[in-house]
Amino acid sequence: MYKVIDGKALAENLRSDLKKKISEYKYKYGEDIGLAVVLVGNNPASQVYVRNKIKACEEVGVKSYAYYLPEETSQNELEDLLHSLAEDKNIHGILVQLPLPKHLNAESALKIIPFEKDVDGFSAENVGKLSQNAQCLVACTPNGVMKMLESENISVRGKKAVVIGRSDIVGKPMAMLLLNADATVTVCHSKTQNLKEECLQADILVAAVGKAKFVTADMVKQGAVVIDVGMNRDENGKLCGDVDFDAVKEKCSYITPVPKGVGPMTITMLMYNTYIAALRSRS
Ligand code: NAP
Repeated sequence: MYKVIDGKALAENLRSDLKKKISEYKYKYGEDIGLAVVLVGNNPASQVYVRNKIKACEEVGVKSYAYYLPEETSQNELEDLLHSLAEDKNIHGILVQLPLPKHLNAESALKIIPFEKDVDGFSAENVGKLSQNAQCLVACTPNGVMKMLESENISVRGKKAVVIGRSDIVGKPMAMLLLNADATVTVCHSKTQNLKEECLQADILVAAVGKAKFVTADMVKQGAVVIDVGMNRDENGKLCGDVDFDAVKEKCSYITPVPKGVGPMTITMLMYNTYIAALRSRS
């Protein structure tokens, strides 16, 4: 029998716990926790993401500072704003919604964010610290996955974990977190040979590919834990993951659904990182 890990319920629990902690923080220090969210241009998907992040701030009691910059914003204008946010003591986290319009250099802009305020966990400092298993701000989506495993007391130590995908925002930090938790980790990608054989070894299989129903039942070992990070549209335009859920679930011990799986955990972990960044700014 498989169990579906309810990411929505877990995210709600974590947010209500975070709300209490943030209120204690405000009481103790007499100040808000601030998150700056910078959006350049009119990308509709980015607008939705930013709206959801601001809503989550309201829910947990983080003060959001939203900067909606026009499409034609220059590199200097963006970087001037980021320099001022980097200096601002009221801002504990800075997030630049990606992708930026094509004429802007995201890499150069993101470098301005001090690693202590890099609540996305994308900076070279945070990525480097993660690989050293040192204190850092961890990329939100893979960090959310680890919380989901923890919430079910799924032990990672000594397990064989396979991550499909090696992106900087999901696959690589996911693999590093699993390795830091003592799993034996294999990272697969588009050039991997014998993907099916690799996946069949997995006690814990994480799919972060971006292809609807990519992971099929014949790729999954009986009793495996399957985590679906994918967010795709199926042939009917319905939101679906990277895993063929209905076929795969029967082989699993645990499986995450899409929607209501990893997705709700990502913004929750952003709130968590903002709280952690504020706490660390005090020590
Ligand atoms: P990405 O940057 O496009 O990376 C996809 C990865 O999948 C790449 O490493 C790629 O390999 C690999 N891949 C592609 N085709 C493959 C194949 N046939 N066999 C094996 N590997 C293959 O995507 P991403 O940003 O990591 O996102 C992955 C998925 O997660 C997307 O659906 C995205 O929407 C979703 N996502 C969800 C959340 C959330 O909050 N739930 C957050 C972020 C992302 P190469 O490196 O060789 O190209």
